This record gives sequence, structure tokens and C-alpha cells, in this order.
Amino acid sequence: MSHVFPRHTKSDLPTAVGGDGCYLIDANGKRYFDGSGGAAVSCLGHSDAAVIKAVQEQVEKLAFAHTGFMTSEPAEALADLLISKAPGTLDRVYFVSGGSEATEAAIKLARQYHLERGEPQRRHLIARRQSYHGNTLGALAAGGNAWRRQQFDPLLIGVSHIAPCYEYVDRSDGESSFDYGQRVANELEAEILRLGPDTVMAFMAEPVVGATLGAVPAVEGYFKRIREICDTYGVLLILDEVMCGMGRTGHLFACDADGVAPDILCIAKGLGAGYQPIGAMLCSSAIYDAIAQGTGFFQHGHTYLGHPVATAAGLAVVNQMLERDLVSRVAEKGTQLQAALMERFAQHPNVGDIRGRGLFRGLELVQDRDSKAPFDPAHGLAARIKRAALEAGLICYPMSGTRDGRMGDHILLAPPFILSETQIEEICDKL
Ligand code: PLP
Repeated sequence: MSHVFPRHTKSDLPTAVGGDGCYLIDANGKRYFDGSGGAAVSCLGHSDAAVIKAVQEQVEKLAFAHTGFMTSEPAEALADLLISKAPGTLDRVYFVSGGSEATEAAIKLARQYHLERGEPQRRHLIARRQSYHGNTLGALAAGGNAWRRQQFDPLLIGVSHIAPCYEYVDRSDGESSFDYGQRVANELEAEILRLGPDTVMAFMAEPVVGATLGAVPAVEGYFKRIREICDTYGVLLILDEVMCGMGRTGHLFACDADGVAPDILCIAKGLGAGYQPIGAMLCSSAIYDAIAQGTGFFQHGHTYLGHPVATAAGLAVVNQMLERDLVSRVAEKGTQLQAALMERFAQHPNVGDIRGRGLFRGLELVQDRDSKAPFDPAHGLAARIKRAALEAGLICYPMSGTRDGRMGDHILLAPPFILSETQIEEICDKL
């Protein structure tokens, strides 16, 4: 009997013992194509030689130490590199251990920024229904799944949720996609006014929604309008790119496609390409300066802040992406993956939508294509597909979210950036 406590306690999981490019290998030598890069993590594929080398060298140099009272060479170099590529005025990097900690720290940073500026009344955080920001209690409060939140009530107070903006929403009344985006973005303004304009600290959103609905970008113009509203009311814009960032959408930062820069940006997963613990929160100098000139002490700490081995891995990952121009490859392979999925599944009666950006693609499963009625969640369809795919040698990421208020099943595909055309066909064959 295994003594590992798995997340899904009712499944029998294969034991991974090795990795090779886009494949994971189990204890029996069976190879699994990693169609979802794990949980959208493995961007370079498994056992990338450059990342292994960087980690090995760092282990020999400085690894078994706490550098939290200092910084380290790889942390400095990774921060410099991220900032040189980051949008807008982001110019400070706070390293954390993963995605939930990045969003948790972002919420605290937004709150502390306003406190340092003498605005203690700014306590409200606005997020979106259907979002996922992680599993710690602050991140759960920001998350848009009411059922998840209710289980842990009371959570962080002062968090409210507005509608998300999805590229795939049907607009049968003739409203243009642009007008739809502006209308939904204006819900943020209405919510700020409802709460009181000087009581809101931040708005948090994923540029491309991932873990609840499987890769849904917003329509053009939506995030630009959101940025305007935030600026008008002095509300900080936090973008959570934990899943969609680090090249996955065909842009190094997903918000580059929307032409906006946030005040705080959260990244994790792809930053370590599977190496943990790593995540980061990037912020603007205005926020950093408010703290530096105020108490001088950011109220979120953890022991392994900017660990040298984790940041050496992150540095090697970003360098690989840039040196091998992998982000352009993502855009190209993403278009091919979308075309292959459309060819195979667009006419399937139970596929309601195939969408996404870059190598971040979602399939929505429905009872029939016309009504888009979801399957009864009790059937656990996505989880059954995941098991069948594993049996066939494919790892994919099933998820349940709500479309128009109805719970439904989705499959997320987020393969490593190095996949080939033949491997795109392999995904489709095994799905
Ligand atoms: N934010 C987003 C958008 C995510 O998709 C996730 C994880 O899926 C998280 C935060 C939490 O990241 P982690 O699981 O590394 O804590």
C-alpha cells in the first residue's frame, strides 16, 4: 500500500520514475506523453539538459544554505532578466515558493501599499467569478468558485467578485465582441462605485483563465478598459500569470497580448519548468518605493525566499526560452495544435468549444453542441477522460468550471514547448 496522500484519493496513480523530453516514464517503463505539461508546468520538457546543468552547478557552489538574509547571484541575475523583459514599469521581483504564495503575497502587497500611503480604508479586493488564484486561504478568497470558498468560510473579508470576460461567450443579440468586452469591464467600475471608490485596494484577474475553465482569453480591449478603470480610481491591477505566463500563450508574459501592464504580476509554474520551489511577484517601483520609504519591511516572508538552487533553475529556464526562441515556437505550434484539435474534434457532438492561446488550449465537453448543456458533474466526465487518457499513455488536465452558471467539464492541454508536429497528432490520437 502506498503511504503517499494523493490529491484524488480515489484514483490509483502510476508512479513516475523518469522523464524524457515530452514524456514521463512510470515504474513499469510505460511512457506517457505529457499533454498538459503536468499542471501547465513543464514548458521545456522533462530533464532539460541546460536546467539540470545549472542546478548541478549551483548545488555544488551554494545550495544547503538559507540566503534570506542576503541575496544570491542567481536570484539577482534572474530578477534582472525578468525585469528586462517585463511589461510596463515592473522593476522589482519578490521571489516566493509557488503560485499560491505569489498571489497571497500580491494581496498583502496591495494592502500594505495603501497602508504605507495612509489609505487604511482601502481594504476591498475585487476578483472575478470563475477565476482560480490558488489554494491558500487568501488566494481561495480571491478565487471565483463559490462552492470552494464556502467550505472554508470565513475567509479574507472584503473580497467581491464580478463577471469574467470570455472570448467564447455567445453574443447572439448582435453585440460586437469589443462592445461586449467594454460592457463587462465596466462591471469593475460599477463594483468600485458600489463599494466606495476610496475603499478598493486592487483588482485581480488571470489574463487567460486556466484552472477553472481550460484556457479562455478575454476579448480585445477588455484589459485596456480594466487598466483605465484601475487608474481612474487608484486601484492596483494584479495579474495572475501563474498558469498562463512564462511563454505558454506565445508571449513571454500573457498580458503582452492584451497590451496592458499590471502593477503587480504573479508568475510561478513555467518559471521553474517543473523545478520547485519557485514563483515570483513582480511589482512597480511606485509600490516598492512606498514600502521602502515607509516601514521598509514587506509583511510577507518565508524561509527560502529566493533560494539559490530554485532561482538558478529559473534563470536557466528563462535563458533557454530566449536563446532557443521558444516563445515564437509556442505561437507556431499553438496554431498547429488548435488546427489539429479542430480537425479531429470540432464536429464531435460532445465538444462544445476548442479555444486558447499558444500551447494553452481547452476543450469544453457538452451534452450537445447546440445547447452547450454540460454533463451532470456527478458523472465526473473529465476525470474519467483523464483516467482513460492515462491508460492510453497521455497526461491531460481535467477540470470542472461553470459556463453561464452551469457547472461543466473541460480538458486543458498545455504540452511542453518542444513538442513536434508528430506529437501534436499523438495528442489527438490518444485523447
Ligand atoms: N494562480 C493560478 C492562475 C493557477 O492556475 C494556480 C495553480 O493552478 C495558482 C495560482 C496556484 O499555484 P500553485 O499551485 O503553484 O500554488
